[in-house]
Amino acid sequence: MWQAEIRVDLGAIRHNVTRLRSGTSAEVMAVVKADGYGHGMVPVARAALEAGATWLGAATVEEALALRAAGIEAPVLAWLIAPGTPLGDAVRAGVTLSVGSQEALAEALAAARTVGRPVRVHLKVDTGLNRGGAKPADWTALVEAAARAQEDGRLEVDGVWSHLACADLVDHPSIDAQLAEYHDALAVAARAGITPRYRHLANSAATLTRPDCHFDLVRAGIAVYGLSPVPGETFGLRPAMTVRARVIVAKRVPGGEGVSYGHTYTTKAQTTLAVVPLGYGDGVPRHASNSGPVLLGGRRRTVAGRVCMDQIVLDCGDDPVRAGDVAVLFGPGDQGEPTADDWADAVGTINYEIVTRMGGVRIPRVYDGEGAE
Ligand SMILES: *Cc1c(COP(=O)(O)O)cnc(C)c1O
Repeated sequence: MWQAEIRVDLGAIRHNVTRLRSGTSAEVMAVVKADGYGHGMVPVARAALEAGATWLGAATVEEALALRAAGIEAPVLAWLIAPGTPLGDAVRAGVTLSVGSQEALAEALAAARTVGRPVRVHLKVDTGLNRGGAKPADWTALVEAAARAQEDGRLEVDGVWSHLACADLVDHPSIDAQLAEYHDALAVAARAGITPRYRHLANSAATLTRPDCHFDLVRAGIAVYGLSPVPGETFGLRPAMTVRARVIVAKRVPGGEGVSYGHTYTTKAQTTLAVVPLGYGDGVPRHASNSGPVLLGGRRRTVAGRVCMDQIVLDCGDDPVRAGDVAVLFGPGDQGEPTADDWADAVGTINYEIVTRMGGVRIPRVYDGEGAE
C-alpha cells in the first residue's frame, strides 16, 4: 500500500534509447548522473544497456563506482572529479576518467602507478562552454603530455570530447563555432599522435538535431528519460516518470477561507479541499505554490496556496473527491495528467530540474517493465 510513489517506466527508457539509436550510427552513452535524473541510476542503466546503449555517463567517480558495485560492467565515463579525489578504486574498476588539465592528468597517472595498470582517459577540450576542459591555448600541451604517457604505457587515451553550450537552441551560431573548435582540437591531438577511438560532442539536443555532431558516441541524458531538450518538440520520446499520491483528507470548507501557510489562497465559495501528501521535502518545488498543475478526479487543478514540506492542497470545488483518490502531479500526459514540461512552465524552470529533484528518500520508486525482453 502506497500513499505517494514515483513510477518509472523502464519500457519507456528502452523505447527512448532505441529511438536515439535509430537516428545515429554512433554508439549511445546513457547519462545516468544525479541518480538517473531522479529515476534511479541502476535500474535506468540496466534498461538503457538492454536497449543497446554501450556506455554509461556519470558525473562523479562515486556514481561510476556505484554502477560497478551493482555489477554493471559496461564502459563508464566519470567527468567531474575534484583534485585529490582517490582514483585508485576507479582505475581498478575500469572506470574511464575525463581529464581536462595537466593537474588532472598528473592525478590520473599517479593512480595508474599505484594500481599498477594504465588508466583509461577521455581528454576534454573546452570548445566554448567555459565549464570543464582545457582551453585551446592549453590543449596542445595537454595532448602532448598525454601522448608521452600513452607511449610509456601508463595511460590509454580512449576518447577526446567536448560539451556544447546551446545545443537546445537549434541553429544557435555557437554550435557551429564549437564544432569547428572541436575539429581543430582533434587535429591538434592527431598531430601529437592521438587518434582516439571515441570522439564525442553531442548531448541529447545535438543527438536529436545535429547529426554533424555525432562522431563516434553521443551522450544522451534527458532524452533517455523521455523528455525533450527542445521546447515544443517531442521527437517520439516517451516520458518515463509518473508522480502520484493518494488524497489524505478531503473536506468541505466555507467560502472566504485562507488555505495553507500564509493564507495566500482564499476559497471563493463553499468547496472541497483535498490534501495530497507530497511537498518540497519530496521535490515538489515551493515555487509551485498557486501554480503547479495536478490531475485529480478527472480534472486538472492548481495547487491552492503554498507548497508545504510534506503536503499540498487542491481546491476541488463541488467535485466528489474523497480521501484515497489518486492525484497525479505529472506523467507522460496520455491520461490527461500534466507533464514535467507543464510543471517546468508553471514554476519557471526546465523539465530536467523537475524530474531530477523528485524523490529524495521518502517516496518509493516503483519500476514498471523490469526485466522485460
Ligand atoms: C549532463 C550531461 C550530458 C547529458 O545532457 P542532456 O542534455 O541531458 O542530454 C551530456 N554531457 C555532459 C558533459 C553532461 O554533463
